[in-house]
Amino acid sequence: MFNEKELSRIIRNEGGVSRRFFMAYSAALASLPFLGVRASAADRKVTFASNPFTLGVASGDPDATSVVLWTKLAPKPTDPDGGMKPEHVKVVWEIAEDEKFTKEVRTGTSIASPQLGHSVHVEVEGLKNDRWYWYRFRAGDATSPIGRTRTLPALNAEPEKLNFAFVSCQHYEQGLYTAYEHMMKDENIDLVFHLGDYIYEYPNNPKALARVRAHSGPKDRKIQTLDEYRERHVQYRLDPALHGMHAKCPWFVTWDDHEFDNNYANDISEKKGVDPIQFLIQRAAAYQAYYEMMPLRKNCLPKGPDMKIYRKASFGRLAEFLILDTRQYRTDQPNNDGIRPLNEEALKPTNTLLGKEQRGWLQKSLIASQAEWNVLAQQVMMGMAQLGKLKDTDEGLYSMDQWPGAAQERMDLMKFIQDRKVPNPIVLTGDIHSNWVNNLHVDDRQPDTPVVATEFVATSITSGGNGIAKPKMLDELLKANPFIQFHNRERGYVRCTVTPEKWVSDYIVVEDVLKPNGKVVTRESFVVESGKPGAKKI
Ligand code: FE
Ligand code: CA
Repeated sequence: MFNEKELSRIIRNEGGVSRRFFMAYSAALASLPFLGVRASAADRKVTFASNPFTLGVASGDPDATSVVLWTKLAPKPTDPDGGMKPEHVKVVWEIAEDEKFTKEVRTGTSIASPQLGHSVHVEVEGLKNDRWYWYRFRAGDATSPIGRTRTLPALNAEPEKLNFAFVSCQHYEQGLYTAYEHMMKDENIDLVFHLGDYIYEYPNNPKALARVRAHSGPKDRKIQTLDEYRERHVQYRLDPALHGMHAKCPWFVTWDDHEFDNNYANDISEKKGVDPIQFLIQRAAAYQAYYEMMPLRKNCLPKGPDMKIYRKASFGRLAEFLILDTRQYRTDQPNNDGIRPLNEEALKPTNTLLGKEQRGWLQKSLIASQAEWNVLAQQVMMGMAQLGKLKDTDEGLYSMDQWPGAAQERMDLMKFIQDRKVPNPIVLTGDIHSNWVNNLHVDDRQPDTPVVATEFVATSITSGGNGIAKPKMLDELLKANPFIQFHNRERGYVRCTVTPEKWVSDYIVVEDVLKPNGKVVTRESFVVESGKPGAKKI
């Protein structure tokens, strides 16, 4: 393996960002963990000074017959190496039809490798459709906590119901994970979608207004190295409510910006003058740490600075989820980012959040889908919300980091959905640390045109500390943007109940995230009836 200095030198000698270099680097990285594992090393009898399962267990990306089981060996989780020697360790996994493991259906072994921080990603195949399972791991003489997971219905099944929750933005310093504590008790959550900002890359900030606990790691700068990204992920996952909720049901995760760096766009930093090569080297570290910590399939394994995370999941013929990545392939935010007019720069047809390949895949998936509900699970708000006005000209201002920064691509996507008559399009969104329900038009500035899709935006789990139910500018906001049905700035999550006839989204809020046992209430509920895009308050 090259170290960072060597990498940088090699790339510079090749004269700039060389695709060839990254292919070579990618191949080198990708060949490491899963090939040539020597059983002899892994078979050595391991003993741990203390419990190696401090980070709990997780599962994810189920389909009708398989699911990913995850854990990471870390007897000393806050040490850089987790308290592990640089050796392969054999880990036994078991999956059963019952919590007591009397009906074990499958067992096997996997290798926790030092290259991947002794994380374990097992893809268990050959399971029955649409049912719950329980799983655990063993390493040496230690046994992990038991996790619960499930498969999805068969591709051609016509399920009567789907219950899930979606979340985003869980800044560790700015609040407690009370939302997850509550979700753990909710038997009506079968799946969780995490739409990004799983960690934040910022240093420990004693001056932050809302702060209930402190980031570990560097004090004077953001995290940058693989070890630092790993340490940050570990700090978050040590929270019992977070790993507790991971153990309750499978998650589908995707990232936004803070898993790597605020408001990044592909290889472009928000900071001027950052060398794109250095930035991609850092991205490789961030993406690897993310892969290590998440219950993702092996086909997500990063190749150097690239990691394909956009993918789909089918809940029988009831719902098709298209999980997007609007960071890795996007063009730079127009107008120097920020809140800006929807001018020529913002409307440039070359601006993209998806990139050509993902956009093609998305269009293909939308026309191929046989599902009743077609769901984009993604990061930034699609509703073209006018968030303010320029003082002199009265021109509306929009967020350049969100879909208005690629307004043409956004409008073309809605037009595509409208023209192809994609059934019941729903957009799920995170990032913005506030709750929104939006009735989406091809162009949201034209409220008299037909509603094409419905967007549910979930607020943050903690980011921003305690919010408010009725923001000051609410009336103005709603007046300027008739497509917005609901907006609120409390913390929490959204729980969805989906049947062939209707989609219900419950906006569940935690009234205080700065103290333990914050009160949890359902603030509002909205329904979309099949065949009628647009949400109504219940
Ligand atoms: Fe965020
Ligand atoms: Ca974000």
